[in-house]
Amino acid sequence: MKLKEMRIGSCVLEVGADSARLSAPITCADEQPRELWYSLPAAHADWFATDRCDGFVVALLLQAMERNENIVTDAPMSSRLWHSLSQFYIPMMTQAFPNLHRIKIVPAALTTETQPAAGVATGFSGGIDSFAAVVRHFAQEKSPEHRVTHFLFHNVGSHGNKSPEADRNLFRQRYALVQPFAKEVEIPTVPVDSNLAYAFPIDFMKMHHALNASVLLVLQNQFRRYFYASTYKYVDCRVAPVKDIAYLDPMAVHLLSTEGLDCVSTGSEMSRVEKTALVATYEPSHRYLNVCVDAAFEGRNCSVCFKCRRTMLTLELLGLDHLYGQVFDFEKFAKVRQRYLKEIILHYPHSFEQEIAEAFYAPRSRAWRWLIKAGGWYRQHRQYRKK
Ligand SMILES: [Zn+2]
Repeated sequence: MKLKEMRIGSCVLEVGADSARLSAPITCADEQPRELWYSLPAAHADWFATDRCDGFVVALLLQAMERNENIVTDAPMSSRLWHSLSQFYIPMMTQAFPNLHRIKIVPAALTTETQPAAGVATGFSGGIDSFAAVVRHFAQEKSPEHRVTHFLFHNVGSHGNKSPEADRNLFRQRYALVQPFAKEVEIPTVPVDSNLAYAFPIDFMKMHHALNASVLLVLQNQFRRYFYASTYKYVDCRVAPVKDIAYLDPMAVHLLSTEGLDCVSTGSEMSRVEKTALVATYEPSHRYLNVCVDAAFEGRNCSVCFKCRRTMLTLELLGLDHLYGQVFDFEKFAKVRQRYLKEIILHYPHSFEQEIAEAFYAPRSRAWRWLIKAGGWYRQHRQYRKK
C-alpha cells in the first residue's frame, strides 16, 4: 500500500516594517493546506535561508512519523541532514517512541551548498541548563571560534498550551525577563516566533530538541553552530521507550546538523548537582537565575514549585544558598522542605531529586542509605500492584 504524503511547499519570505516571516504551505492527505511560519525582527530578515526546507522538515518530521506519512518537499534540502535523518534519526525515534512509524523523506533535490555564516547560538531561558551552557560556552570559552555570539528565544511550544494568544503573551513576558542579563553581558537576544505548536499540535516533551533545532535550520544564513542545552547526564541517556525526548539528546541532536550548521548537545557531561555548582561560580546567576515553572509568578521564582524546590535544596546542600537570596525566598521554602525530603525518597524514581538525595545523603549516613533502599522497594511494590 502506498503511504500517504505530507508535502512541504517552497518557502516564502515576507519582510514587513517590524518583522520578517518565512512560511511554507503544508499539505497532508485529504486535508486543507496549512501554513507553517517562523518570524523574527525585520532587521534580521537576511538570516532566513530561503533556498532550502531543512527547518520545515525537522519541525514536522515527528508529526509525519506519528501520522505515518512520507515527507515530500518542493524545495531542496541539505544532503547531510537528509542522510542523517533517513539512516539514523528516524530509526532511533521509532525505538524510543513505539507509536511512531518509519517514513521516507523525498526531497526535490539535495544540496551541499553552505552560506558563510558566522554566528554561534544557544537558547537562553535563565534556568540551570541554559546558565550552565552560558558558563561553558561563553564565560569560560577562550576560543572565539566556539564562543556564543547570540542568544535565541523561541516560541515553539514551551510557553504553555492554553491558546496562541495566551502562550504568545507568556513568550513575550519571559523574553523581557531574560533581557537584563543579556544586556549586561552584551549578547544580542533575538526572539523567534512560530505557529508550529498550533499548525501541527504536538507533545512538546516528545519533540523539544527537534522543534528548537528547526529554528536554527531556518536561520542557516546566520548561524554555523548551535549549542543545545541538554538536561540528563550521559549515564542516564538511552535509546529506549521514554516519555521525554531529552534522554536521547546526546545521540540525536548532532544528527540535525547540515553542511553549514553544527548542532551540538551540551550539558550531559555533568550531573544536575555538578551543573548547579558550576552555575553558582558565575556571579550573574545569583541575580538572574530563573528556574520556576509557575506562570502565575510572571517570571519570578515561586520558591515552592518542583523546579524551585530541587534547585533550592541543591544550593542549600552545596552550602551556596546564601548567594541566591535575591532570586529565591528560602523562608517560604523552609515550610515545604520537610515534606519535600520525604517525597524525594518515596516518589521520584530516576529523577534529579533522587540524584540529589544520593549525592548528598547516601555516602554519609546509614539511615539515608536504608531509606533510599526502602524507597526502591516501595516503588517496586507499587508498580507490581499496578500491574
Ligand atoms: Zn517555582
